[in-house]
Amino acid sequence: MPALLADVRTALADALALLLPVDCAGCDEPDTVLCELCRDRLRPSPQSRVVDGVTIWSGLAFDGVPARAIRALKEEGRTGLARELGPALAAAVRAASAGAPVVAVPVPTSRAAFRRRGFRAPDLIAARAGLRVARLLVPARRTADQRGLDRDGRRRNVEGAYRVRSLSAQPLRAVVVDDVVTTGATLVEAVQVLRRAGVDVVGCATVAATPKRGSHRIIMATHT
Ligand SMILES: [Zn+2]
Repeated sequence: MPALLADVRTALADALALLLPVDCAGCDEPDTVLCELCRDRLRPSPQSRVVDGVTIWSGLAFDGVPARAIRALKEEGRTGLARELGPALAAAVRAASAGAPVVAVPVPTSRAAFRRRGFRAPDLIAARAGLRVARLLVPARRTADQRGLDRDGRRRNVEGAYRVRSLSAQPLRAVVVDDVVTTGATLVEAVQVLRRAGVDVVGCATVAATPKRGSHRIIMATHT
């Protein structure tokens, strides 16, 4: 889809959201995009993890209200939620960059996902967060849906999946941004591609992080 058409579609979806009744994305309370209680659950509390030497900061844990809001944005096209999720991404970027000025480089959205949704979730959230967005990376080839893959599968799936589109003459300091980090494979690949092109990548930032597998096992164990 041409970029202009996608912009029009996003604008239309935003306009429709104002006209049609919606329920809270977090708890289904009627007639609100997000109720006050659920908005409270989106207040960022940045946490970091390190994957292959790359530090990834996330504003929220991917469960409960944050997970529901991100799914509603991506799968139901509720683009108005990008503004609500923006503070979590902004807080993660500030943590990753230690407050220094940086550009936010979104992980590329696959062409299939972009056709389906009509927008790129990481780019939209970054823009609504007031970050300086530089779309330096584009898909280099088709990839499978990461969700069905294990850690090694994910890494192989994204190897060589991105290329650098354009670089300004100015040296850039960048933070790679995405909506959710699971294994970190896509973020690590994006960082490596940018670094090979000479971009100074200081780290990664996401709106939310899935719970680490280790801690999940502990929770499961205490329930048995
Ligand atoms: Zn709610």
